Amino acid sequence: MRMILLGPPGAGKGSQAQNLSVALCVPHVSTGDIFRANIKEGTALGIRVKGILTAGELVPDDLAVRIVADRLSKADCANGFILDGFPRTIPQAEQLDAMLARDGKAIDVVLNLVCPDEVIISRISGRRLCCCGRTYHLTGNPPKVAGICDFDGKTLYVREDDKEETVRTRLETYHRQTEPLIAYYAQKDALCDVDGEGAIADITVSILGTLEKMGL
Ligand SMILES: [Zn+2]
Repeated sequence: MRMILLGPPGAGKGSQAQNLSVALCVPHVSTGDIFRANIKEGTALGIRVKGILTAGELVPDDLAVRIVADRLSKADCANGFILDGFPRTIPQAEQLDAMLARDGKAIDVVLNLVCPDEVIISRISGRRLCCCGRTYHLTGNPPKVAGICDFDGKTLYVREDDKEETVRTRLETYHRQTEPLIAYYAQKDALCDVDGEGAIADITVSILGTLEKMGL
């Protein structure tokens, strides 16, 4: 099962990829996770991508392709993978196709999580974090006392990439550079639209049902 999750930032790609990874027994390959781990460890890659991501921009194609090629060459990806956060541009998609074709492989399905901008903005800009790792949401999962963690009484904060202005920039970048991938994969008959609004678990169930109908 070689799958790509497409959709705007905040559409729930990460949550779906995690659930599908467990259900389908293939690894979840998230470029965002790879970048964040490198930023945390202060590697050369981390230093390079930190400023790009904070500005809501995309990591250059050559760099993104190199990182994904390296990850997909690992043994655990031999029987498939779920890509989340890649490809983000047409050149990245073309290079991914070429990379797989060299091994006689291809992408089986591209799930496109459809979610309106306004829903995404309210979802992301309502996120509140605590330094203990717990996460809250102003409407979805509010703390008992506004702005305070239920467990340790510490003050909650907004992640830099979750600020409304950054979210709007990320959505503009998505519409301009990533949305053309929808037509690219539709032309290859690999695209499958999924309603990205609603509860995470319900969306997973609906995706698994769709994959079964497709014989995947
Ligand atoms: Zn806390």
